[in-house]
Amino acid sequence: MRIIVTGGAGFIGSAYVRQAVRELGHEVLNVDRLTYAASPEALEDVAGDGRYRLVQADICDHAAVAEALAAFAPDAVVHLAAESHVDRSIDGPGAFVTTNIVGTYVLLDAALAYWRGLPADRQDRFRFVHVSTDEVYGSLGAEGRFTEASRYDPNSPYAASKAAADHLARAWHRTYGLPVILTNCSNNYGPYQFPEKLIPLTIIKAMAGEPLPVYGTGQNVRDWIHVEDHARGIEAALTRGLAGEGYNFGGASERTNLEVVRAICARLDELQPDPGGQPRDRLIEFVADRPGHDARYAIDDAKARAELGWAPRETFETGLAATVRWYREHRSWWEAIQGGRYGGDRLGLGAARAGAGA
Ligand code: NAD
Repeated sequence: MRIIVTGGAGFIGSAYVRQAVRELGHEVLNVDRLTYAASPEALEDVAGDGRYRLVQADICDHAAVAEALAAFAPDAVVHLAAESHVDRSIDGPGAFVTTNIVGTYVLLDAALAYWRGLPADRQDRFRFVHVSTDEVYGSLGAEGRFTEASRYDPNSPYAASKAAADHLARAWHRTYGLPVILTNCSNNYGPYQFPEKLIPLTIIKAMAGEPLPVYGTGQNVRDWIHVEDHARGIEAALTRGLAGEGYNFGGASERTNLEVVRAICARLDELQPDPGGQPRDRLIEFVADRPGHDARYAIDDAKARAELGWAPRETFETGLAATVRWYREHRSWWEAIQGGRYGGDRLGLGAARAGAGA
């Protein structure tokens, strides 16, 4: 299959591209603007493969997107490009509105024009997979899980921008017939995750013996999924999903943030004991909570399991152990980021919000 992947140099996009090219033999054109979050190193394994190419382009650039579609003639678009960090959306929502909403609109519209020009048999097979998050559903109490029928109730600027994009994607199916499939997934972790996110940030700070910030009381719950399980879910939705349907993916691994940080500390205490023999969870520091912090996310993925034959392969324990190992072994990757693009400072208190459209 010939697939345009947007955001293929990001954390999840690169995991999907690696699987798609190396394991599944797809041909991939990666359309990525290469923002601060992009990681070309994550694509080194496919960079020399004739089935993979990168075009550095902004999904908001209609001419560039239309040109990529016309030149590559894909059988599918898998859309992952986004601004993805909730804390950054609190400090600067403008980029989230632009890329996540306007960019998705541009991509859908260019894909529609391209799809309408395909012969009937290729039109039938064409898919536009829109990759989204469980954060569009808002926050749960102690009980219940999100299903595909859950009401949209986003709280952060990031979640609101993704919700808007989901609505556009659904509308392009219902109004124009574009064969769109929606996926909503819980929190991912794994290799090449940008170290602004909880798990890599904690691993790196814990290895350095630095304070480990935990927002609020650390009781917020997320349902963690390994990025490669999510990538397999995207492929399952692409190849076995029905146009117009949505599929939720989760890791069946609900943990409080405090449990996650403690699990990382315990793993590192085993692998790399602190020089003073002290447990690393002594480094935990409770810091000001994220404004509007959602209490709990949990996914009911029964539909994806039943209709796509998908199930996560990693447990949180196996996935986290592999991830801690990966960050220990790939120091040069994250040290280069620390030295330039992101040094580990607190983001997302909203204090930096200029209110001037940024
Ligand atoms: P990421 O921030 O690691 O990567 C995003 C990629 O998109 C980067 O390579 C970046 O260069 C590219 N990009 C950003 N703006 C662009 C633009 N205007 N034009 C072209 N490329 C652009 O993100 P991620 O964590 O890999 O998330 C990928 C997708 O999955 C997003 O749509 C996100 O909303 C969704 N998602 C993420 C999670 C998660 O836990 N990370 C969970 C569910 C869904």
